[in-house]
Amino acid sequence: MRREIYDGDHEAFRKSVREFMERSVIPNLDSYAEDKAFPREMWLAAGEQGLLGLGIPEEYGGSGAEDFRFAAVLGEETAKVLAALNSCFGIHCDTVPPYFVELGTEEQKQRWLPGMASGEILSAIGMTEPGGGSDLAALKTTAVRDGDEWVINGSKTFITNGYSADLVLVAAKTSPEKKARGISLFAVETSKEGFSRGRKLDKVGQDESDTAELFFDNVRVTDAEVIGELDQGFIHMMQWLPQERLGSAINNVAHAKQILIETLEYTKERQAFGQPIGSFQHNKFLLAELFTQIEVAEAYVDKCVMAHVHGELTAIDAAKAKWWSAQAQSEVLDHCVQLHGGYGFMNEYRVARAWRDARVTKIWAGSNEIMKELIGRDLGL
Ligand SMILES: Cc1cc2nc3c(=O)[nH]c(=O)nc-3n(C[C@H](O)[C@H](O)[C@H](O)COP(=O)(O)OP(=O)(O)OC[C@H]3O[C@@H](n4cnc5c(N)ncnc54)[C@H](O)[C@@H]3O)c2cc1C
Repeated sequence: MRREIYDGDHEAFRKSVREFMERSVIPNLDSYAEDKAFPREMWLAAGEQGLLGLGIPEEYGGSGAEDFRFAAVLGEETAKVLAALNSCFGIHCDTVPPYFVELGTEEQKQRWLPGMASGEILSAIGMTEPGGGSDLAALKTTAVRDGDEWVINGSKTFITNGYSADLVLVAAKTSPEKKARGISLFAVETSKEGFSRGRKLDKVGQDESDTAELFFDNVRVTDAEVIGELDQGFIHMMQWLPQERLGSAINNVAHAKQILIETLEYTKERQAFGQPIGSFQHNKFLLAELFTQIEVAEAYVDKCVMAHVHGELTAIDAAKAKWWSAQAQSEVLDHCVQLHGGYGFMNEYRVARAWRDARVTKIWAGSNEIMKELIGRDLGL
């Protein structure tokens, strides 16, 4: 079925993203996995091509593309090639910038947004802590007032881009007695005294992305580094999490669809008992089901993208898109591995890496259980 949400401008942008991937990413895939990180040159090249500042207004160095579909195209095209890059771009381009664009003061925008758009300032977001991620309101990192400054103490874990970030948006308790209503957001430059990082975490998948623990030991910041309203951090996060979850859904579908297309080709070529394995009725029916499953998921996600473009996407729509697409991705990729037989378990095959890479999508940015909790509450349960 022809997708109707993209027009000629989006397709032209898609072409330029593909060219970027072919020129600056695909030749270097092996080195990214070895380093567990993307080199700064890659980020700078992406910035140069205008890929990092889609949601950043032009006066701050971005492209000011208010139409979220451009971000969706970037997500789809990076997900098709490399899930880990898609994750790192997602945090830097879609998750972090809205907090600065929508909540930042003029001084904060001028200070950080141009560098974020160019790739000179890499960003991360620190919500999750070793003690828990689902229950954000229970976070333990504190920011205590001391004269004109705030003193931050605590730690964060599983932070995407954490190892290479220059700037981390940190959620910390400023009024612990007020629980969720006592959290504030701080822009913490990683050059600050008292900030340190642990090792790059050894993950099951997405080997190429740098994921780290971050430590804050009496890190001092001022009011100029408070993002948004004091004690309103939880509300701010709830406001922007739906966009992050929609981004995840877009990527989940694009990633699974691409590997499914590649798997179909494989099943047409691979022979057993004198015929292509895809032509056995079991596999033919299975592939028919998988293509249906992914295209139905895509249709719902496309509808959510348009709702977001029109400012109508609800947190519940986004929760549905996120858990459903993650589940579909997981099921589709598991079958794709099976259809590859033993080769499906070999890391040198894309399908094996894709299967490992996808496992996290049911966990992060709000687990599938938390998404269902939100939907259930909305049903009045
Ligand atoms: C590779 C990777 C990258 C990440 N990047 C970032 C990042 O950049 N920034 C960031 O802040 N975080 C990041 N995260 C953290 C991620 O968002 C959390 O792991 C996630 O929110 C779950 O939190 P948790 O790991 O503490 O699990 P827990 O909260 O301990 O949950 C454990 C299990 O209990 C379930 N559970 C919890 N509460 C309920 C409930 N009420 N009902 C039913 N089940 C429940 C969960 O669904 C899960 O299955 C990343 C994680 C990974 C793995």
